[in-house]
Amino acid sequence: MPTDRAPGTTVVLSPPPTPNGPLHLGHLAGPYLAADIAVRAARRRGERVFALCGLDDHQNYVLAKARQEGTGVRELRDRYAGLIHEVFDRVGVGHDGFTEPLDDPEYRSAVAGFLGELVAAGTLPVEEWRTPVCADCPGIAHHAYVSGRCAHCDGPSGGGTCEGCGSYTPAAALVDPRCTRCGEPATGTRTVTGPVLRLEEYRGVLQSVWYRAALPPRARELVWRLLSDPLPTVPLSYPTDWGIAADGFPGQRVDVWAEMGLGYLHTIGRQLQPDATGLAEHVKAWDGVDSVWTFLGLDNAFYYLALFPALFAAAGVPQRVHGGLVVNEFYRLDGAKFSTSRGHAVWAHELLRQEDPRAVRAFLSWDRPAPHATNFTWERYRAATAGWDLDPGTGGPDPGELARAEQALALETFDSALAARCLLGGPGGPADGLLDVLTGGGSVARP
Ligand SMILES: [Zn+2]
Ligand SMILES: [Zn+2]
Repeated sequence: MPTDRAPGTTVVLSPPPTPNGPLHLGHLAGPYLAADIAVRAARRRGERVFALCGLDDHQNYVLAKARQEGTGVRELRDRYAGLIHEVFDRVGVGHDGFTEPLDDPEYRSAVAGFLGELVAAGTLPVEEWRTPVCADCPGIAHHAYVSGRCAHCDGPSGGGTCEGCGSYTPAAALVDPRCTRCGEPATGTRTVTGPVLRLEEYRGVLQSVWYRAALPPRARELVWRLLSDPLPTVPLSYPTDWGIAADGFPGQRVDVWAEMGLGYLHTIGRQLQPDATGLAEHVKAWDGVDSVWTFLGLDNAFYYLALFPALFAAAGVPQRVHGGLVVNEFYRLDGAKFSTSRGHAVWAHELLRQEDPRAVRAFLSWDRPAPHATNFTWERYRAATAGWDLDPGTGGPDPGELARAEQALALETFDSALAARCLLGGPGGPADGLLDVLTGGGSVARP
């Protein structure tokens, strides 16, 4: 498509991990390694890239975990933040921006300020909404503080989105919501007055974004499901005990997902225009964004598909920036889902302390759980990696295989498993250069 704009920046997002536990191999094999591979491949093509991740400090799962362990929330957060950083460092997953809200007063005041600006301008309405609450526990039942069943797939779900099908599952939408702090049914109801985002008012914008974006089948399915009903109205703040204070709404904190969307407006805007102040100047800086791509699991897709595009549209970001989502399925371990709570996991920091990170990267690329779920076993890992020579050689696969691998590492057609088969599977030996994108070897200059 012809354009009169100068080539801009490709933004690659991966959802910030929640520092309430260590990363397991499923996290690494899902969004984090894939995003890094796509970034390295884009830089190799000469594109200007801004890779952004961070820590999701303000999820109340962090506070809930600290309560459960009887530790201070800061101590717990710092312990897991350290392990998450260790994994990214050891495996060579790099980011150009890495937001850590608890340590970043500028980010916190920008988020609160942007929300305040949008409310003051009337762009975000303030209205009453009702939600189930626990009769005995303080605050309202949201995110980690509530669990129940998904009304769409009947699977177990917390108060946010369903891991199984991606549906939006606030407490009010859950079947049989229970308070996770005391275990009792959430039988009370509370009316809250606060800022909301009425997604239905952005139906046309979202349809246009969804029509243009590169979306895999499971994300398209979620889109069709969302469109078949009135789109939900999403509260942007809660009366609760964790998160950034919502100015003008005493006792309320900015919803952590609203925070993330507003945080992207801030962090990406400031990256492109370092002296930007206020929402309008940050949004103006987005003129320098070519496209935004997100690597994620289906459980976060509602936010990246619906909440953020609508919030960005409310703030004035042009729709053309939405590139697409690269969605992974579950990575299983010995046939069962990875589970932090049941300890059924291979912890990424432990694996990387004993294995060659290049082999880990190559294997997880080859075994990436997309478009279908895949299954980690140590036998498969040992058998596959034993046969690979990861040192750059002189030969390399034939030009056809190389071209296929290049194509498989493009954002629109990302498939690292196919790239790994092209680069590691043939008789030609490893390919100098392109294989480094998978293994993390070498270095690519940032244009
Ligand atoms: Zn579900
Ligand atoms: Zn309770």
